[in-house]
Amino acid sequence: MTKNWHSLDIDEVIKALNSSNHGLTGEEAGNRFEKVGPNELQEMKKITPLQIFIRQFTSFIVIILLVAIVVSATIAYIENTSYMESAAILVIVVINGIFGFVQEYKAEKSIEALKKLTALKARVMRNGKEIQIPSSELVPGDIILLETGDKVPADARLIEVAKLQVDESSLTGESVPVKKGPCLLEEVPIADRKNMVFMGTIVTRGRAKAIIVETGMQTEFGKIATMVQEVEEKLTPLQIKLKEFGRWLGVVTIVICVVVFSVGVLREFLVKGVVESEFIIMMFMAAVSLAVAAIPEGLPAIVTISLALGVQKMVKRNALIRQLPAVETLGCTNVICSDKTGTLTKNEMTVREIYTNDEVIEVTGTGYVPKGKLILDSEEVDVKDIKLLLKIGALCNDAKLTHNEKWEILGDPTEGSLIVVASKAGLIKEELEEKYPRIDEVPFDSERKLMTTIHDIGGERVVYVKGAPDIILDRCTHLYNKGKITELSGRDREKIPEINRMMAEKALRVLAVAYKKIKDSDEVNSDEIESNLIFVGLVGMIDPPRDEVIKSIKECEEAGIKTVMITGDHLLTAKAIAKQIGLLKEGDRVLTNTELYKLSDEELEEIVDSVAIYARVSPEHKVKILDALKRKGHVVAMTGDGVNDAPALKKSDIGVAMGITGTDVSREASDMILTDDNFTSIVNAVEEGRGIYSSIKKFVQYTLSSNLGEILVIFMGILLGFPLPLMAIQILWVNLVTDGLPGLALGLDPAELGIMRKPPRNPKEGIISRDVLENILIVGVVMCVGTLFMFQHYGAEIGMNLEDLSSVAPKAQPVAFTTLVMFQLFNVLTYRTRSFRNIMENKWLIRAIISSVLLQLIAIYLLGGIFKVDPSNTLNLMDWIKIMLVSSTLFIILEVRKRIQKG
Ligand code: ATP
Repeated sequence: MTKNWHSLDIDEVIKALNSSNHGLTGEEAGNRFEKVGPNELQEMKKITPLQIFIRQFTSFIVIILLVAIVVSATIAYIENTSYMESAAILVIVVINGIFGFVQEYKAEKSIEALKKLTALKARVMRNGKEIQIPSSELVPGDIILLETGDKVPADARLIEVAKLQVDESSLTGESVPVKKGPCLLEEVPIADRKNMVFMGTIVTRGRAKAIIVETGMQTEFGKIATMVQEVEEKLTPLQIKLKEFGRWLGVVTIVICVVVFSVGVLREFLVKGVVESEFIIMMFMAAVSLAVAAIPEGLPAIVTISLALGVQKMVKRNALIRQLPAVETLGCTNVICSDKTGTLTKNEMTVREIYTNDEVIEVTGTGYVPKGKLILDSEEVDVKDIKLLLKIGALCNDAKLTHNEKWEILGDPTEGSLIVVASKAGLIKEELEEKYPRIDEVPFDSERKLMTTIHDIGGERVVYVKGAPDIILDRCTHLYNKGKITELSGRDREKIPEINRMMAEKALRVLAVAYKKIKDSDEVNSDEIESNLIFVGLVGMIDPPRDEVIKSIKECEEAGIKTVMITGDHLLTAKAIAKQIGLLKEGDRVLTNTELYKLSDEELEEIVDSVAIYARVSPEHKVKILDALKRKGHVVAMTGDGVNDAPALKKSDIGVAMGITGTDVSREASDMILTDDNFTSIVNAVEEGRGIYSSIKKFVQYTLSSNLGEILVIFMGILLGFPLPLMAIQILWVNLVTDGLPGLALGLDPAELGIMRKPPRNPKEGIISRDVLENILIVGVVMCVGTLFMFQHYGAEIGMNLEDLSSVAPKAQPVAFTTLVMFQLFNVLTYRTRSFRNIMENKWLIRAIISSVLLQLIAIYLLGGIFKVDPSNTLNLMDWIKIMLVSSTLFIILEVRKRIQKG
């Protein structure tokens, strides 16, 4: 039952929900989940498998074929002739339908799986411990923790907050973020319920602890949004184009079929003077079968499957696609703009140097193990001299150092390294926090590049600040040196940046720390309290580059993709890392935020191609860089993790968010999420994207060329005055056997070797490029000429009618039928003939070809009665040799064409 949660006292809320300050137990949460169900908004009604199955038989053309089957079977029944053929056609249509069903069902399933993968997670207290679970598993009574960039997972009453601001525009339409806090309220409208946070709104600033009061459809959002889907099912540009193309092709095919039917019937009339109903039915069946065979109805499903399967492959390589169109765009990407920290580097920070009291101290030890020494002139330093610096580092800090099997950091590694270095000197964060409790704070944000906390130090209020050295120094007026405080001199203002520079050149990431005392009455306003500070020192930490990134950057270069580093860090640190990973080349330019700021959009556009590093930039600058790159016609993938990165992620062609360190907001604005935050995964995704596009292209080319072959054989045959070259059942069989299995296998074709040694695809180039079109025409014409040649060679002549054919040339149809099947198989084989290994690589294709041949043998030798093959006069070895000779011409022609193209 919904209560007025906002007007209850927080203890009453906790009591009413039978929870505690430490949250629920896992068992209790499980019980509640059983009762209230998942914390999800109701989705639109899902399509059932039965509906998908029925859909396979509801296309106009299939319905006509089904009607024709019924009519022909009825006639056969009345005239007491065999209705075997009608039954067999029905079976093939059903098998075709099952094929279509399996494909569509699989496509549907993969899309569903994708949705699950991209579901949001929430931090919750269970069994007294903080854990992360999918938001859908939250129940009323759960205690959740929120921080900047989180999407609120359910309606919750606030227990504790630190500078919390929430963007509630999705719920109330109010675009200015609202300040929130756990006060007691009277009956007020939703927009004024300051002690509550609501599902679907976004934490733009600060942190909070809250207790969930409503989940799923019971939330305020649930009440207004009856039908919301998390991941939109967008069709990709390719799918849209293919759909339109398919429709066009359908119309053309139907026209051709009408012509085939009319010309066939007319000719029969001219030859014989009468047309029997059986002939009409036969021609009608042949024409409709041709339409069924030639309309590439499987195309959209295969494309979806290829895309979805590719997406699953990408997941294994740590790239999660949120929007299917991204798969296509990945193949055209020619610029990747990447953050440095965590994406190009490991984000495993270890403090190496400290500058304080005008001395540079070295720190030993590796990783997060709190063991090591702080050394000055080969001797261990006296901790009391550097205590203030270490204390500020450890207290102005939201991370946690934990030890389970190994030492780990919960939270920001930059902050983690400060806890570790303090521990090395015997200062433990938790003990310090108990002694000097935090009273207030201004959270870190990458725009300000600062973080501030206020502590009660022996009854006094003290402000601790840490952040980017240049920014801190600008805000300092005094200097701390072994307990003495002096005014910052001109010399200090030169020396400190110099030390910073020296550290940065060694690829160290440098933070500065400062402090000041304030009065109780001073208002906490970030500009006020972060000025007139006392400078304490610098901390330099290493963040080694990821080993695999070096190879990936090289790979990008070979693949015609430019890598650009965009970082909030110091220019020299950025440069040092860029050199280590091979990102900075001779002649490349580097820009800092100040230079970038001064450039007009046009000026930036002029030089943008030569810039490899943008340093000290804020997220807002990313959009400016992006605009310049896009105006130059580049297809850009851009990474981002913070709340302020969302506009850039949305605007880029491929917005890439971080799965580990990223905020919900950045993830929701992205097209792709890296589950390991690693640059290499972007490059792997590009490779997969290129591979998927190329296999879809192959599939489209194969299907259309094969279909054209079938159409031309029948169409030209009839037009030239031959008897019908293939019966309805044979046409459907060719379609089933050749389009079905090999086509599907081609759609699953693994990426070619060397796909990353080619330049990116031009985004303007359609899937049916000139080259593809040429191939389709060549295949169609060769198949038509070859099949009709065989037809004639085996006795079918122009002007002959079908009755003559069965007596004079009984092998003509079976041979034409088999030749056409073999043509198709040779056609598919040319897709993987770069080497023998290349052929063997796609096992599915090999299996598909072998099974198609076996099926054809079965059709001819075992099911001759159905497939119009006279058992006493079936194909012999000589026939097979001729068939193979003729059908292999296609293979030879296509291979020669390939060689000529390679030149
Ligand atoms: P990148 O943009 O490559 O991921 P970055 O971590 O340097 O790198 P931001 O997170 O935007 O980018 O940080 C910008 C600057 O703010 C840093 O260079 C550092 O000087 C400072 N900074 C980073 N983290 C903190 C923090 N937790 N507290 C205070 N200052 C910080």
